[in-house]
Amino acid sequence: MTVTRFAPSPNGPLHLGHAYSAIVAHDLAQQAGGRFLLRIEDIDGPRSRPELADEFRRDLEWLGLEWEEVPAQSTRLDAYEDAARGLLERGYLYPCTCTRAEIEALEPRLGSQGAIYPGTCKGRLLDPEKPAALRLDVSRAMADCGELAWEDELAGSQLADPREAGDVVIVRKDAPASYHLAATLDDAADGVTLVTRGADLFAASHIHRLLQALLGLPVPRWHHHGLLTDGGGQKLAKRRGSPSLADRREGGEDGLLLAEQLRLRRFPAGISLINA
Ligand code: GLU
Repeated sequence: MTVTRFAPSPNGPLHLGHAYSAIVAHDLAQQAGGRFLLRIEDIDGPRSRPELADEFRRDLEWLGLEWEEVPAQSTRLDAYEDAARGLLERGYLYPCTCTRAEIEALEPRLGSQGAIYPGTCKGRLLDPEKPAALRLDVSRAMADCGELAWEDELAGSQLADPREAGDVVIVRKDAPASYHLAATLDDAADGVTLVTRGADLFAASHIHRLLQALLGLPVPRWHHHGLLTDGGGQKLAKRRGSPSLADRREGGEDGLLLAEQLRLRRFPAGISLINA
């Protein structure tokens, strides 16, 4: 059975890009007679605003979507800790005390997801007083796992190339998991068979494929859909003036009509789809 999901982080309101993503995931499940899940990814520490989750549910309802909600990430911390402990014991993680500013000052190579960590703390004696994150030793993991294939419904067959993302953080300084560990474990626990999300997370999927191999998890298929951008070619964001779904809903706009327009890829003036 096809199981898709929409996994928003309650760090800010949803906008048109999220609506498009939720509709794509919903419709792929519906066309296959499958299930569409909603998972609230609320482990972003102080950036997470729990009250937004209710607003998200109202937005999805307004768009005419039906979903099954699975437990939010904040209720799954034990599972993340167990998995991270196992990876650490097996030698796949190393502590890193670098701050974001320190990493940027190193002038690292830039990947599609931002700065690629140059491995500064790997094998280094660290100050035990400093808070440490745990990073994935990608070359070690790749050497043990060998070639890993995965399939994107739109982009076709892929060979995992996690070096594009680098030694990503697996356990954050302030949370028992990073997005990568939490989302990978959750997709497996929730029985997701088709991971549906924006093309901006394509590089993350290479890492997730590697984590699946290390953790013995089932391998889903992926569907990285195009991204909605504003006139300047930038991803939509409220801070750049793109109205939130809540603004549109509260302003009396017809959500069902908006959903139909998005399905037909008829976007409001100035908005276009890229990477589709
Ligand atoms: N929580 C992530 C976000 O809001 C989405 C992660 C995913 O779909 O894998 O960007």
